[in-house]
Amino acid sequence: MRYLSDYHLHSNFSFDSKQKIEEIIIKAISMNIREICLTEHISFDPGDKSYDFFSFRHYESELFRLSQKYYKDINIKTGLEIGEYHLYKGDYDKYFKENKLDFVIGSIHNLNGQGLRVNILEHGAKYAYDTYFKEVLNFVEVGDYDVLGHLDIIQRYAFKEHGVYNFQDYKDNIYDILKIIIRSGKGIEVNTSGLNDNLLFPKLEILQMYKDLNGEILTVGSDAHTTNRVGEKINYIYDLLKDIGFKYIFTYTNRQTKGNPL
Ligand SMILES: [Zn+2]
Ligand SMILES: [Zn+2]
Repeated sequence: MRYLSDYHLHSNFSFDSKQKIEEIIIKAISMNIREICLTEHISFDPGDKSYDFFSFRHYESELFRLSQKYYKDINIKTGLEIGEYHLYKGDYDKYFKENKLDFVIGSIHNLNGQGLRVNILEHGAKYAYDTYFKEVLNFVEVGDYDVLGHLDIIQRYAFKEHGVYNFQDYKDNIYDILKIIIRSGKGIEVNTSGLNDNLLFPKLEILQMYKDLNGEILTVGSDAHTTNRVGEKINYIYDLLKDIGFKYIFTYTNRQTKGNPL
């Protein structure tokens, strides 16, 4: 049987979710998911909504308790989704030393200290896209992370008003981003949370480019903030990635990768 994993999940340890970790676990087991990684929000930007919300100590003990309870049915990993590492490098480096993590998603949620949606509204879609891809590049150049989270998620906030962006317009930026990720031994996340709007983060052309550049390291995540969305369309994405020619989906322990055959 396929080793299904959902590597992007938020519980009430994140500012924007109310679901209990145990509810996530029960739902994941019911979907034959073999491994999950919780990836709670953390940010050192005082203007970010997740600032000073998260408590690692409580998170760690809750995950320990639940791992013991459910160890026969599912593997449970301790992760974080961090924002804008490159702007708060010192804080994150210290945090990673002090707290034992299995996995880190590095994401860009803000530009100029404001959310992506606000940037589109205030400066227009072209400015926001240009700045977003530049910011992702700045991040991957210095970032300590395992996978880049939801590359091109800016689509989510732009597509209704401005349509789907043209891959060709950002092909060079995306090429540079992927080259650095591959060279530094990191990976990318395939995030299923936009599929109800026919959006995949990152879009297919990017996944194809990653494959063509011999990129291998991939995780798949639902980015569920509510229990009904845990594991959403994970199986479908595994099939799609297999069709593109990828061989493994990766899981992590103590920030070390392991490839699980697709
Ligand atoms: Zn995110
Ligand atoms: Zn997330």
